[in-house]
Amino acid sequence: MLQDPGVSGRFGEFGGRFVPETLVPACQELEVAFRDAWADPSFRSELDNLLREYAGRPSIITECHNLGKQLGIRLLLKREDLNHTGSHKINSVLGQVLLAKRMGKKRIVAETGAGQHGVAAATAAALLGLQCKVYMGEVDVQRQALNVFRMKLLGAEVVPAMSGSRTLKDAVNEAMRDWVATVETTYYALGSVMGPHPYPFMVRTFQSVIGDEAFAQCRDVLDGKDPDVVTACVGGGSNAIGIFSGFVDTKARLVGVEPAGGAAVGRGVPGVVHGMRSYLMQDEHGQVQEAHSISAGLDYPGVGPEHSYLASIGRAEYPSVTDAEVIEGFQLLAKTEGIIPALECAHVVAWISREAKNMQGQTVLMNLSGRGDKDVAQMMEILG
Ligand SMILES: *Cc1c(COP(=O)(O)O)cnc(C)c1O
Repeated sequence: MLQDPGVSGRFGEFGGRFVPETLVPACQELEVAFRDAWADPSFRSELDNLLREYAGRPSIITECHNLGKQLGIRLLLKREDLNHTGSHKINSVLGQVLLAKRMGKKRIVAETGAGQHGVAAATAAALLGLQCKVYMGEVDVQRQALNVFRMKLLGAEVVPAMSGSRTLKDAVNEAMRDWVATVETTYYALGSVMGPHPYPFMVRTFQSVIGDEAFAQCRDVLDGKDPDVVTACVGGGSNAIGIFSGFVDTKARLVGVEPAGGAAVGRGVPGVVHGMRSYLMQDEHGQVQEAHSISAGLDYPGVGPEHSYLASIGRAEYPSVTDAEVIEGFQLLAKTEGIIPALECAHVVAWISREAKNMQGQTVLMNLSGRGDKDVAQMMEILG
C-alpha cells in the first residue's frame, strides 16, 4: 500500500505544505474534513453510488489483440476514457465536490489545462448544485475552445489566466489566489496529486479506485497473475498514482511517461512550487521553467510529490517521449484498435511501442486516462 503521509504531508523529502499563513488553517480544515469523510460509511456509499450510477464505474479492461501481436506483448487497457466526461478526472472531482458540500461550501474554484478537469468540476458542481469558476491559461483557452464552451454550457464561469506562459501553471496560481481571498465560502478543487497537503494524498485516495479495480480485474483476466508492467502518463500524476496504487505491492514495473518538454522527474531538481516540494524544471537561478508539450494536459513543469518519492526510492521510473513520437502513438492506437486516445495517453502508447523490443512476451497494463475527442481538431491541423 502507498503510505499515509501523516499530518506533515511528507513523502520522504517531498510534499509538505508550503503556503501563505492565511491558507494554513484552510488546508488543516480540509485535511480534517477529508479524513472524517473518508472514515464515514455514509460518505463512502454516497460517493460509490455516484461513481457507479453517474460516472459509469467500474471501467472495463480491454485487451489490444492487434497492437499486442504487432508489438510482441500482451497489452491491456484500463478504460478511464469511458467514464462520464471522458477521463479519470471525474473520480476525484465527484469526491471533492461531495466533500465541499459536506463542508458547507457554496462555491467551487478549479484550474484546468486541457479543460478536462474544468469540465469535470463544472459537471460535478452542476450535479450537486454549487457555483463553479474555472481558471484556464489563455493559451489553453485557444487550444481547447470546445472544452471552454462545454464548461459554459454546464453553467461554469471560465476565466482566462493571462500571466506567465498563460498555461496550466498560471491557472493554478490564479485559482490559489481566488481561494486565499474567498476561503470561507469556497472550496478549491485541485485537478491532480499536487499542491499543498492534503491535496496529493486526498486526490490519490480518490483516484485509487482505478488501481483497486484494475488489480482485481487483472487477477481475473490473467488467471491470478499480475501484469509485468503498469504504465500511465504523468502530468501532475493523478491517473498514474491511481493505477500504481493497486500494484505497488506486486512485482510489476511501474512506469510513468512524461513529455520530453515537461520531464519534471527526468530533468527536474527538487524545489518548491504551488505549495509542495517536488521535482521541478528550473533554470540555473532556480526560476520555474515553462513546460512545452503538444498536450495541454501535460504542460506542467512540476509533478506530484509522491511520484518524486517513488522515483527517489527506485520503485517507479519516469521515461519521456517527444511530441513526434506522441503523434505516431495517437494514430497507432486509432488504426490498430479503433480507439482514439487523448494526446496525454498517446505518450504511453509511444513509450510502449518504443520499448516493446525489451518487453517481448510480457503483459503490459496501460491506463487509458481519457478519450481523444478533445484533441481531434488539433490533430487535424497537424496531420492535415
Ligand atoms: C488531465 C489529464 C491528464 C494529466 O493529469 P494527471 O494528473 O497526470 O493524470 C492525463 N490524461 C488525461 C486524459 C487528462 O485529462
